[in-house]
Amino acid sequence: MKKAHTGKNKITEVSSPKGMRDLMNEEYYSFQGFFEKAQEVAVYYGFKPIETPMLEHQELIEGGVGAGTDIVDKEIYTLKTKGGDHLALRPEHTAPLMRAYVEHGMQTMPQPVMFYQYGPVFRHDKPQRGRYRQFWQFDLDCLGNDKSIMDALVIKASMSILEEAGATDLSVDINSIGDKECRGAYLKELTSYYRKNLSGLPAVDRERMKTNPLRILDSKEEKTIKLNEQAPDSISFLCAPCKKHFKEVLEYLEEMNIAYNINKNLVRGLSYYTRTVFEIIEQGGNEDGIPLALGGGGRYDYLARQIGSKKDVPAVGFSIGVDRIVAAPWYKKLSPRILKKPKIYFIQLGAEAKLKSLNIIEILRKAHVPIAQSLSKDSLGSQLSIAEKLSIPYAIIFGVKEALDNSVIVRDMSNRSQDTVKLSKLLEYLKELK
Ligand code: AMP
Repeated sequence: MKKAHTGKNKITEVSSPKGMRDLMNEEYYSFQGFFEKAQEVAVYYGFKPIETPMLEHQELIEGGVGAGTDIVDKEIYTLKTKGGDHLALRPEHTAPLMRAYVEHGMQTMPQPVMFYQYGPVFRHDKPQRGRYRQFWQFDLDCLGNDKSIMDALVIKASMSILEEAGATDLSVDINSIGDKECRGAYLKELTSYYRKNLSGLPAVDRERMKTNPLRILDSKEEKTIKLNEQAPDSISFLCAPCKKHFKEVLEYLEEMNIAYNINKNLVRGLSYYTRTVFEIIEQGGNEDGIPLALGGGGRYDYLARQIGSKKDVPAVGFSIGVDRIVAAPWYKKLSPRILKKPKIYFIQLGAEAKLKSLNIIEILRKAHVPIAQSLSKDSLGSQLSIAEKLSIPYAIIFGVKEALDNSVIVRDMSNRSQDTVKLSKLLEYLKELK
């Protein structure tokens, strides 16, 4: 690791913070290609773009995501500004989105209001393969409507995005955790079950009994996983409206031939969920063939009030984890639109030509002719060999004579035939090339 001197702290390592990385080269294009495709699908389904700030008030994140969640208990990055504000880097997009909805009075707009958003989120998680501290999520959300078809729409649009990205073997893990009418009775039953089995419950899950007992259901502790097999399930406790809502969501999935699996232990790590919760799983999995959760979401009808709104705003959304998708073996390598295969390799020879070469490149750019060049090189041989290596079909050779004549030589790299073409006729000439 290189060491560098900095003014204040003398020596520090030249490295990005742990769990955070530079996106560049192929990985950058993979992200950009994914985003373009995701955005295109989202727009077809009627979602509009929004981008919220990366920093929010700490209390919004804590109030929104909720106590007893891993994110709030261990994973948020917080800071105190010089002005004394307590801010947090967003660990997810949902609470900030609801804040924007309430702040801008979107209740008065025709409902639902549908948004897509994309950007980095930050969690002080333990970094490992496929798990970063800065990672990217693409979200779809419908706010202001409680109908089950909204849940189905979010699931369907998310599946379409994932399929366009190359996923072929998708299924939905789904559950309903009820609403304030029925969840109380369920939680009572659940905690009483854990209390009866307290001796088998690891310390971390005992702690959750006090803060967020639902979370025990998705515990990673082996003993708890065993205990959870017999735990009461939330679906049996649903009140009539919640039962109807869940049944309708499943009917929509069946109608669309979406494979689903009712997972009674699925509660998801965030405390704002009500009714439907779901994850989309790719069975083909990661490099080791282990099924991958590509994203998660659900309904969050009480989040608005949790962050200070006077009224509830029924809403449903889904977050896609982009880092895992672009790293998956089945990822289609969606190419961003701006990446064009070069048709021409531009070669310049001699000082007079070099002086004017950027003018010629600009003529080509304006006409949208994709080119490659290595302006820092001087010899014909080295420039031609790069053109050959990159298998670019044509070269433009611009030497001293051509610079004086306002012309260029266009060379067909496949048979080495070439023509001298006046600059004023160049675009016309290039159009005729195959
Ligand atoms: P969550 O917001 O925790 O429901 O996560 C939604 C999706 O984001 C997950 O299914 C993952 O694909 C992805 N994800 C969550 N945490 C991380 C992380 N630390 N690094 C990379 N991707 C993540």
